[in-house]
Amino acid sequence: MNLNDSVSILPFVGESYRKKLERVGIKTVFDLLHHIPHRYIDFSKFTKIKDIKEGELISVAGEIISIKNQPTKSGKLMQIGTLNDESGTISLIWFNQFYLIKALPSGSRVIISGKASWFNRKLAFFSPQYEKMDYDHETVHTGKLIGVYPLTSGISNKWLKARINFALKKIKIDDFLGKKTLKKYNLLDFNDSINKIHFPKSLEDIEKAKERLSLNEFYNLLLESKKRREKLTKKKSIRLTVDNKLLDEFINSLPFKLTSSQERAVAEILSDLDKKTPMNRLLQGDVGSGKTIVAAISAFVAFLNGYQTVIMAPTQILANQHYELFKKLFPKIEISLVTSNSIKHTAYSNIIVGTHALLNKVDEFKKIGLIVIDEQHKFGVKQIELLTKSTKFRANRLTMTATPIPRTIAKTLFSDMDLSVLDEMPQNRRQVKTWLVPNEKREKAYEWIGSQITNHKSQCFIICPLVEESESETLKDIKSVKSEFIKLKTVFKNFKLGLLHGKLKEKEKNAVLSEFTSRRIDILVSTPVVEVGIDIPNANIILIEAADRFGLAGLHQLRGRVGRGDKESYCLLFSENESEKARKRLTALTKINSGFKLAELDLKLRGAGEVLGIKQHGVGELKIADWSQTKLINIAKEILESSS
Ligand code: ADP
Ligand code: MG
Repeated sequence: MNLNDSVSILPFVGESYRKKLERVGIKTVFDLLHHIPHRYIDFSKFTKIKDIKEGELISVAGEIISIKNQPTKSGKLMQIGTLNDESGTISLIWFNQFYLIKALPSGSRVIISGKASWFNRKLAFFSPQYEKMDYDHETVHTGKLIGVYPLTSGISNKWLKARINFALKKIKIDDFLGKKTLKKYNLLDFNDSINKIHFPKSLEDIEKAKERLSLNEFYNLLLESKKRREKLTKKKSIRLTVDNKLLDEFINSLPFKLTSSQERAVAEILSDLDKKTPMNRLLQGDVGSGKTIVAAISAFVAFLNGYQTVIMAPTQILANQHYELFKKLFPKIEISLVTSNSIKHTAYSNIIVGTHALLNKVDEFKKIGLIVIDEQHKFGVKQIELLTKSTKFRANRLTMTATPIPRTIAKTLFSDMDLSVLDEMPQNRRQVKTWLVPNEKREKAYEWIGSQITNHKSQCFIICPLVEESESETLKDIKSVKSEFIKLKTVFKNFKLGLLHGKLKEKEKNAVLSEFTSRRIDILVSTPVVEVGIDIPNANIILIEAADRFGLAGLHQLRGRVGRGDKESYCLLFSENESEKARKRLTALTKINSGFKLAELDLKLRGAGEVLGIKQHGVGELKIADWSQTKLINIAKEILESSS
């Protein structure tokens, strides 16, 4: 048996179980062995029957002296067994488990684990764990620390554990770390740690095993990004030189002066572009910090060198917005738009803006010198790889994100990229005033919005959440935003309302947004499709429904839709969830304006998966470790560096 073998190699894993396992992410024996308990129950305390106390978690060894079916009041059957040891007897009660009559006939020697409770004035076990001791073997399900696994319907803890136990007996995992290294860092051997995480003898076993397996995870992430970097540095780059005169002319023609962090990022990029190895840079900057113009400047440099730039954005709306902006910025340059619905391009366009629909087209462009990925966290690593792989040359790559990735994570997950940070906002910005509005003030809030529109020519977004947790919008979501739209039309009778969601045709989306931009619409009712990138500086109010359903990072992104002009801006949050935890998160948003601080808080409250959008894409998802283990991350780095 090999670690890479499919789980179907194991006894009792037929097609139906194989599929069930796949649903929890288990395909290979390796996956199975890395599917670890999320908690443990301590069944290690053995007691004589006469000493059993109510509610105490214990194990008993004894003999079944009788077992029978007995009807319950509700007409079902329960199985009542009697367990005996030298100190006394106790009843064992299960419900609707007919097979037990045959599985545990009287005379069976068993170990029972669980808590006893009162039944007919005597102590009894209800649905205890049990395990036969027919032959002399170590118990798997009872009598010790027992792992409880994350499961899916149709797979029981007991079944899963038995499969893992079988695999462990057949396999010895070779350690990729040498004995010396293990000793130096006081780490458990790989094979040991896998055994101990499933079948620990003590709490210390669990801790040491977890430590070692966490280290493996960090090590592998670091190794992957190291490999990516090595692959990249082997390629010869397309060197792009800079014509300072033309570039300065362009920058001076902009309606604003670059912030000093924009200037710094531009300088870093220009120096990368002129290097022998391709650029691979991550541009990180809070919502509204002005990343697009940095990308535009880079694209201009590629153009001056006779190369094409491809810019990929996660939504049609955003791609279209970039397309319109670039046409304005570069009236003399040929700009194309590639989305699933509109393909306005020629193979020779200078700048090609698009959504993931670009992935199928990119081979048509023969002279790509620069690839820009906007809102990187919305894409999977695979999509990004596809985009860069399909270009014949090793084009320079600029990745942009508003997700403030904490340093430790950036250095582990993305250590193949160099980092530029926009750490300041353009000067005209004001902080968005954020309020958590109690439901009883909803009418007042609507009135206030109306008066702002009338008196200050304000414009407002109203965001309905997605009903179901899914990456794209479902029919239910569309239905709910539509019914909210109808309701709001009666609330805001004297105003013009627009409706926007992901399932509208591209033309319709663009029409609505252009009406909003040109102020023919006062209130835009929308799903979170506007979450990323949309830039409508006159809109200065955003109302977010069921804000508790979003992560802080998502809310901060949404809030970033306003506060882009010189008007005072407002964000109104409504919440359906009255819990302390939800309140705390939302209150944090009313007090904290920095995306970076919010991300750190979100990281603590919800975990990295949610913060980085990792969960959606499975990128760098940690199964065992967590991102707070800075010390282990550093050890993993040290080990990796010393091994090469
Ligand atoms: P993000 O970093 O979120 O992508 P954008 O690039 O969309 O931000 O920029 C947000 C807004 O700020 C845009 O309207 C843009 O024109 C404007 N902007 C960008 N840089 C500056 C600057 N240096 N001074 C003033 N406004 C700027
Ligand atoms: Mg942007």
